[in-house]
Amino acid sequence: MSARPLALLGGTFDPVHNGHLRAAWEAAEQLDAEVCLLPANVPPHRPQPVLDPAQRVELLELALAGQQRLRLDTRELRRAGPSYTVDTLRELRAEVGDARPLLLLLGVDAFAGLPSWNRWLHLFELAHIAVLDRPGHSRDYAAALRGQIAARRCAADADWRSQGAGRVLFLDILELDISATAIRAQLAAGREPRYLLPDAVLAQIRRRGWYAPAAAG
Ligand code: ATP
Repeated sequence: MSARPLALLGGTFDPVHNGHLRAAWEAAEQLDAEVCLLPANVPPHRPQPVLDPAQRVELLELALAGQQRLRLDTRELRRAGPSYTVDTLRELRAEVGDARPLLLLLGVDAFAGLPSWNRWLHLFELAHIAVLDRPGHSRDYAAALRGQIAARRCAADADWRSQGAGRVLFLDILELDISATAIRAQLAAGREPRYLLPDAVLAQIRRRGWYAPAAAG
């Protein structure tokens, strides 16, 4: 019997929303995995977050309150410099040993960008990759990525658990067209993005005045 898989959903979580939470929850159920949300410090591939790490963690803690299945792992926030996933996975692999399956959860948009990540091919030596459906994003992958998919693809209910790393799984999850960008835009326009993120998270954002419309000059 192999150990229970550990799956990681990295991201900026600026702010965390129901698209992240539902995807992480479905991955936990489908893979029978422990799932960690892993906020990034200085994401190398994208513009800097609006909220600082402590603020994003405050919202993540509110979002995860009251359940045990999804956890928060703040290790990337404690490390100086850019958050390279390959370094995080190396650290985790050393902690859990070679046999326990590790999975990197990626929305299709993040997965499509994988070939631009630092030492991306090395990721397959450290973890499986599980791709999460997300509406409105192209599944038009670069040739190098298509080659990896062809060699590594595995059904979610097939026997990937006996290996610690190296397979690519596509998870069939409920597609929620929710993004942090759209939530920030609604808040900046003075609107209320209710039901796109947990009530407690929205209430805290409003209390703190985060992402608020710029004060009129
Ligand atoms: P932004 O709009 O600021 O770019 P985002 O909503 O895409 O943010 P991130 O924190 O960048 O959120 O995403 C972290 C991870 O979660 C990525 O792998 C991303 O693909 C995935 N993800 C985000 N939103 C969804 C969603 N609605 N459905 C499935 N996966 C998602």
